[in-house]
Amino acid sequence: MHYDVIVVGVGGMGSATVYHLARLGSRVLGLEQFDIPHDQGSSHGINRIIRLAYAEHPDYVPLLRRAYELWREIEYEAGERLLFITGGIDAGARTGEVVTGSLHSCQVHNIPHELMDASSLGRRFPGYRLPDDMVAVYQPDGGFVLSERSIVAHVTAAQALGATVRGRERVLEWAVDGDGVDVLTDRGRYRAGKLVVTAGPWTAKIVPALSSLLVPERQVLIWTQPLRPERFRLGAFPVFMLEAPEGLFYGLPVYGIPGFKLGKYHHRRERVDPSHVDRDIHPEDEEVLREALVRYFPDANGPTLTLTTCLFTNTPDGHFLIDAHPEFPQVCIAAGFSGHGFKFASVVGEIMAELALEGSTRWDIGLFRLNRLLG
Ligand SMILES: Cc1cc2nc3c(=O)[nH]c(=O)nc-3n(C[C@H](O)[C@H](O)[C@H](O)COP(=O)(O)OP(=O)(O)OC[C@H]3O[C@@H](n4cnc5c(N)ncnc54)[C@H](O)[C@@H]3O)c2cc1C
Repeated sequence: MHYDVIVVGVGGMGSATVYHLARLGSRVLGLEQFDIPHDQGSSHGINRIIRLAYAEHPDYVPLLRRAYELWREIEYEAGERLLFITGGIDAGARTGEVVTGSLHSCQVHNIPHELMDASSLGRRFPGYRLPDDMVAVYQPDGGFVLSERSIVAHVTAAQALGATVRGRERVLEWAVDGDGVDVLTDRGRYRAGKLVVTAGPWTAKIVPALSSLLVPERQVLIWTQPLRPERFRLGAFPVFMLEAPEGLFYGLPVYGIPGFKLGKYHHRRERVDPSHVDRDIHPEDEEVLREALVRYFPDANGPTLTLTTCLFTNTPDGHFLIDAHPEFPQVCIAAGFSGHGFKFASVVGEIMAELALEGSTRWDIGLFRLNRLLG
């Protein structure tokens, strides 16, 4: 069975890649080890924050603008809303990385925004109760993307264009042979001209040379019953990133399942093997999250509704890894999304399709090249 491109991993990035490859007319096969979608990787848990004022680096902003466009396109294809605009808050100390980084991106890219003190923020969005030594950048384009539904939308649209997607089929090994790539799974053998690896936390198992650069990490998320529900509903509460002395937190208004959703970046800093993750929730997991609820969102600090685990894949500098394989140019990799990748999935799909088919992309991916990590 011969394809133009095989995509290993049909999660957030892989589903979008399969779709964009099919859109460009190539014969594509997507292989996924679990169900589509599933709750073992990095893309489950209803939704993911999207922000335009990008504190991490201004170079992400052009990609974000394209990502917003492509989210609108795929939701039109799917006939289903996937992108919700709530406004976004980047908060913390005036001199902290989140506030200065967010303001820097706004200035470089002329992004509309407002800088507010903690009391103005609390008056406008009463769910927030930040101390006086914090400020907030409000950016009206912030919001969230429905993550599992986006995977469904990309896969369904790709299939309508002729793509083949197989679930419950694990890639065991691959080898470059002549001008193509052979792929062996637990169900069969396939051949393609190009291979794209979008295997999330399992990427280093497929490309062992990257194992020191792609580190999977256990995360835990909580949904709580707000004590003042009107303050945390869609329309009343912007998504946020909050740099506090206790760590970096993020949260979203109530949507999809009951409760206010909150997480802490890097949670308890637990490196894990993605195939053997502790999926149980322990009292310490909840304590880490309750700390932020008590201090900064007391009106959301009601009973626990849901707790779940999820996986980050961290690179040493927190920027993505998007590049060709160091030895085999017919193999491309998109991984290491370091806890902030989902919002980009729509544009990463386009980038990976271009890299696989043309060997280059119109988008500036200089920040994501492998060389920077190899020194
Ligand atoms: C708790 C949490 C909160 C987050 N919040 C945000 C946020 O608010 N905003 C944001 O932008 N990002 C956020 N992120 C990050 C974002 O969700 C991830 O960057 C993104 O989901 C990564 O997508 P992926 O395609 O790389 O991984 P995945 O979606 O996990 O996809 C990888 C797929 O590859 C499959 N696979 C692996 N190995 C094989 C194999 N051998 N054979 C076949 N299939 C294989 C896996 O089963 C999986 O389906 C968050 C992540 C977590 C965990």
